[in-house]
Order: sequence, then C-alpha cells, then structure tokens
Amino acid sequence: MELIRHFLTENPCYRANVDRADSRYIQFQNRGPLGLMLHSVGCAQPSAEVFVRGWNRASHTNSCVHGFVDANTGAVWQTLPWNFRGWHGGGSCNNTHVGVELCEPDCLVYGAGGAFTVTDPARAKAMVKRTYEAAVELFAFLCRQYQLDPQTDILSHAEGGKQGIASRHADPEHLWKGVGMDYTMDGFRADVAAAMDEPARDSAPAARPEADRLEQLLGPWIERIEDLPKSLRAQTRELLDLGVLNAGTADDPDDIRLPYNVLRALLAAKKYTDLRTIEN
Ligand SMILES: [Zn+2]
Repeated sequence: MELIRHFLTENPCYRANVDRADSRYIQFQNRGPLGLMLHSVGCAQPSAEVFVRGWNRASHTNSCVHGFVDANTGAVWQTLPWNFRGWHGGGSCNNTHVGVELCEPDCLVYGAGGAFTVTDPARAKAMVKRTYEAAVELFAFLCRQYQLDPQTDILSHAEGGKQGIASRHADPEHLWKGVGMDYTMDGFRADVAAAMDEPARDSAPAARPEADRLEQLLGPWIERIEDLPKSLRAQTRELLDLGVLNAGTADDPDDIRLPYNVLRALLAAKKYTDLRTIEN
C-alpha cells in the first residue's frame, strides 16, 4: 500500500481537532475509531491530490475525511490522523467512524440525482478495481491497528444512512453498480477479513506502539511542521532552530515528534521568555 501523508491542516475540521474544540473531538482522539466508513466522491475526478488541494483551505467548512484513494495510482492519501474526528458522514457516525473516499473514474458523466453514464467502460472498471483493492488493504491495516472487526465495524455511507447514523447517500455502491462491477459491501467486508489474515506487506506503515500509547494520553501527535496550522509554524520553526524540540537527537533536524499539547506548552513558554527578554 502506498501511503502519502498530507494532512488538511488548514481545514476547519483539522483545527477543531488540534484545538480539541469539544468533548466529541477529545473522545475520538483518546479512544480512536470504533468503525470505518467507505465513501466515494460522487464526481468524475480520479485524482486524490485535486481533493487535497481543494479541501485544505479555511474556507472548506463542510467536509473533511481521513483519506482519499487515488483512482489513477491506487495510492492512499491520508488527510487526517486516523484518531481525529472527521466530518464525512453527516450524522453521529462522525463521532465513531474514520471516513475514506474512493476517487471516481474520469470517464463518468454525472446527471441529475446522482445517476451517471460511462463513456469508457473498460477504463472505468480498471479504475474502480484499483480503488477497491487499495481500500481493502487500507481497511485491513486499520482494522488491525484499532482491533476492529470487519464484519461489524465497516459500513458504507449508504449503509450508515439506512442505519440513521449518516446522511442519506448512495455511495460507494452506486459507483460499483453504475460501472457494472459486482462489488458489494458484504464482499468488501469479506475481502478485508481475508486481507487481515495475510502477513502485512513491507510497505504498510510500521506500527509505533510507544507513540500510540503517548497519543492516547496526550492527544494528537505532531511529526512535522506541515502537520501544524500555518499560524503556529513560524514559532515552531524558531524552536526547531534553537534545538529545543528534538535536542539534536533526531536523524532529521525537522523532526518534531511531540504531542500537540506538549508543543503548545513549549510555544507558550517561548512566548513568555520572549516577553521577559523584551522587558529586560
Ligand atoms: Zn459519502
């Protein structure tokens, strides 16, 4: 699985998580996800990067997901830490579920009411197969990571809507059906369960048990300057340049690797010393 990490740090949902805006965010971060929800984007855009660029803005106030699966490459773009609360399902599922979007083939023509026609069926099927298989691998990884049972803890957006925990949408089953694939959510859950039994591939992200334990205690983990909202980056850069953050021990001088709350305490301390320096 190719995993590209590009957090949506400017999206208001990311900000609400780093600010721990209310108990729903704190609870999700401390506990981790209780389930996984599969979506598809509902428009003919195969590039995950296009969504990442479009959603990584303060003005993008209505949605934020944990990842996009690129339909050109099968790469997974992770856009939120897995234990952040997302805005993906339009219901209480946001309090419990990670949300992942499958990008859709470029050869669909959407009409009214979410129906579409397919201009190049072979191409569409190849792209849908690519995102399906990458999603199986990602969901197997997440089920292992968070001790989830694929049979009970994986839903589509459409299934969530029927259960009353998400808004009424048809994704991603409408995509599979519309391009003439015989994929179903029951089949997806079975494929994830089968993938969990396979030994993890080398390219799967390595488990970080120590970091995960700390994260549970101290909130979200900030690894790089790009993980921070822009407003905090200059101050953090000064701390990095002073050697305060990793004390020169990390291989990468830009490595932050601190819980957000610890970093905030350091930034507050820096502000205090800066003020004292001016006074003196
Ligand atoms: Zn959806």
